This record gives sequence, structure tokens and C-alpha cells, in this order.
Amino acid sequence: MKYISTRGKAPVLTFEQAMLTGLARDGGLYVPETIPQMSHADIAALAGVTYEEAAFRVMRPFIGDTFTDTEFAGLIAKAYAGFGHDARAPLVQMGPNHFLLELFHGPTLAFKDFAMQLIGQMFEFSLKRNGQRVTIVGATSGDTGSAAIEAFRGLDAVDVFILFPHGRVSEVQRRQMTTPIEDNVHALALEGDFDHCQAAVKDMFNDFDFRDGVRLAGVNSINWARVLAQVVYYFTSAVSLGAPHRPVSFTVPTGNFGDIFAGYIAKRMGLPIEKLVVATNQNDILHRALETGGYITQGVTPSISPSMDIQVSSNFERALFDVYDRDGSAVAQQMDQLKTQGGFKISQGALERLRDIFASGRASEDETSATIKGAFAHTGEILCPHSAVGVKVAEDHISDQTPMITLGTAHPAKFPDAVEDAIGQRPGLPTRMHDLYERAERMTQVANDLGTIQDLIKERIKA
Ligand SMILES: *Cc1c(COP(=O)(O)O)cnc(C)c1O
Repeated sequence: MKYISTRGKAPVLTFEQAMLTGLARDGGLYVPETIPQMSHADIAALAGVTYEEAAFRVMRPFIGDTFTDTEFAGLIAKAYAGFGHDARAPLVQMGPNHFLLELFHGPTLAFKDFAMQLIGQMFEFSLKRNGQRVTIVGATSGDTGSAAIEAFRGLDAVDVFILFPHGRVSEVQRRQMTTPIEDNVHALALEGDFDHCQAAVKDMFNDFDFRDGVRLAGVNSINWARVLAQVVYYFTSAVSLGAPHRPVSFTVPTGNFGDIFAGYIAKRMGLPIEKLVVATNQNDILHRALETGGYITQGVTPSISPSMDIQVSSNFERALFDVYDRDGSAVAQQMDQLKTQGGFKISQGALERLRDIFASGRASEDETSATIKGAFAHTGEILCPHSAVGVKVAEDHISDQTPMITLGTAHPAKFPDAVEDAIGQRPGLPTRMHDLYERAERMTQVANDLGTIQDLIKERIKA
């Protein structure tokens, strides 16, 4: 299995190389050269198997000979052992034909643990085998950073630097990043918003001297291995509801388009998904793009679902690559326009192909709050504000025939203020995290200046 860049000008890599590299050297994102297929029988055979076994079967064709079967099964087992639910990704029913896929039983209470815990295991195994060391630098709107730090803390072969927008992440998110005591963990509070954090990381990857000098590796959702790990729960949940014998639809609270792109891959592999519904908060560039064909940035407005406060949705590039018939230069041109003019227009043909696969909707702040309140009253389920955006948009798209699965992306206790405002009670942390508010914090505030950040990283990894 080979991996190619969405901009067509970077070296073709193996799974292991693509995983350790993150962003391609031409600024593009790695995607598999071909999409492996799961037959009707392969999918039907996933019924009743453990999450780990399903994960092995769904991901195995993508990893080539990076790991042996035994090695890969061992890494998967370790990755999910720390989850607080034996099903790993349980489904609960929200209403007639509407289900919530709870993806928040991992160690940092958000779906990002599914990918990050596995990536942590895969990185450690690969780096140790190759006698290498890397510097992981990531940008976060809150959940990626906590998941990355949790996955990489204390590993020998890795330093992990996480840039988060100062003052714009929830207290639980911040504490998950600032309280680990291991020396290889560096939480950096950047004076800016998430897009500034993400731009700084991209610029570091495009500075090849720096990139090679510190052996930079990326674990943002631009990393293909993250997308891959997220494909699995589309299969397990769909099979629970009768796939492949009947189709299902998904609604996905979306920011960087990573999680929903994993659903797209599941569909391409053969899972009968009728619609993939993009759910955005008031930062609705993806919804506008699908409605109008214009992908136009407008700046970020902070919301009660901060992990979706994003205007430059990196993984959308992967979808564009496919709907432009994998023409890397066409994609590069559009990304160039995005950088220089703040937007681009999707061609009519490409837009129609996107609309065949994706639907979209947005939820306002009031609708999000009202959905948390309504879901609690009608089902007892306490939704986090991101999941609530999903549930609201799903309700607008549900049909009688096809079960709708909304991805529950975080535990409500990660966003206690928004939840308390909606239902008048504060969701509690799971007992395994009871002392989070008592642990000492450690972070470094940094200016939104590339040189300053790079110097700090070089300084820290020397120590
Ligand atoms: C990251 C995140 C999202 C958005 O996921 P993308 O893959 O970036 O689209 C939604 N909800 C929560 C809770 C998140 O942490």
C-alpha cells in the first residue's frame, strides 16, 4: 500500500513513512493510492466481533508490511485497553431511528483518543525499531492536544509540543494538557486563535531546515493514521444497526473534516452509508461551501463548541482531491487561492459529486443549548455541546427508512459550563479523573510568532 500527496508533488511513501511524516513536503496531505474494499461478506462477518478485532480487519489492508499481524493486533489491544467501556464505542438510542455513538470513553473523554492512543503505540513501536527520535508538534482547539499528550507522555523517543489558543479552551481541556508531569510534554499557550496555532504548525512543516533539524512529526488530523483509526467505528456502529444488509446514515459534528472524512473512507471501502451529514456550529464554512460552492473564510467566532471553531478545515483537501479526480495540481491551485485570497470556488462538477455524498447543516448557539436541554429531558442523555450540534442537525436530516447515527464526540464533563447553562446541572467527571482540578499546572505562554516558537522548541529538545 502506497501513499500519495493531494498536491501531487511529494514523494510516494509507505504507511509507516506517511504516519511518521504527517504533512507532505509539497504542503499536501497523504492519502492511500487505492482504497481497499470490504465485501458484503467481510462486513457481515464483523457482526459480534470485539472492537479490537473489527479494528484489525478494517485497518489491516492499509498498513502494508509496516507491522506483522501479531504486532498490529498487539498495538491495537494496548491502544484500547485504557478505555472506560468494554464496547469502546457504544451506541445509545436518542429517538425513533436516531442513535448516538458514544466516542468519549477514552482516557481524555473525546473521540480523538481512538486515533491518538493507537498512534502513540504505533509511533513508539516504529521509532524504537528504527532507533529514531522525533519532535511532535501539534495545534489544538482543545481535544487533539489533550489526546496527544495523553498518548505520548513519558515515551522515550518523542517530545510532544502542543500549541493551544490561550484562554480559548475549556478548563478540563487545559488541565489535561498542563497537568502531566513528564519532561517530554510541553503545553504552549499561544496568543491567538486555533487557526493561528494550525498555521504556525503548517509553517514549521514547510520550513525544511527546521523540520529536518528537529525531526518534526505531526499528529494533527492531517496525519493519515488518525483518519484511518477513525474509520473503524463507522463499521462497528453500522453493523450493529444491520449493515451491510441495510444502509445507515451518519451525522458528524465537524471542524477539521477529519472525523467525517473517515466516514467517507468507510463508504468508499464498501460500507453502505446513505448520507454523511456535516454538522457545523456558527463557524459554518463547510456548510456554506456545500450549499453555495464557495469556500470562503470569514474569521472564527468563539462558540460553546470550541473544538469546532475552525475556518480552515484541513482535511477537506482530501475530499477535494477525490472529487477533482485526484488532480494534484488543481488542488494545489485552490489551496493557493485559499492562502492568497481567503477562499476559492468549487467547480460545478466537483460540487455535485460532493453533494452526492455529503449533506450539511448548522446549529446556532441557542439551538445547541436547546438540544442539550431537550435530549436530557427526553432521554436522560447529557450531550456535550459538540454532540448537541450533531444531534440538532441530524434531527433535520433524519428519514423513516434509514437509521441515523450521530457521533457523540466528547463527554459532557469536558464542557461543564455550556452543559450547566443548558440543563442547570454540572456533569461530573468519571471517577478515574476525580483529582484533575487539584493537580498542579505547567504551561508556557508564547507570542504568535514563528521564530519565537521555533527557538523555544530547539531549546527544549536540547535539554
Ligand atoms: C475535534 C473535535 C471535533 C471536530 O472533529 P474534526 O475531525 O476536526 O472534524 C468535534 N467535536 C469534538 C469534541 C472534537 O474534539
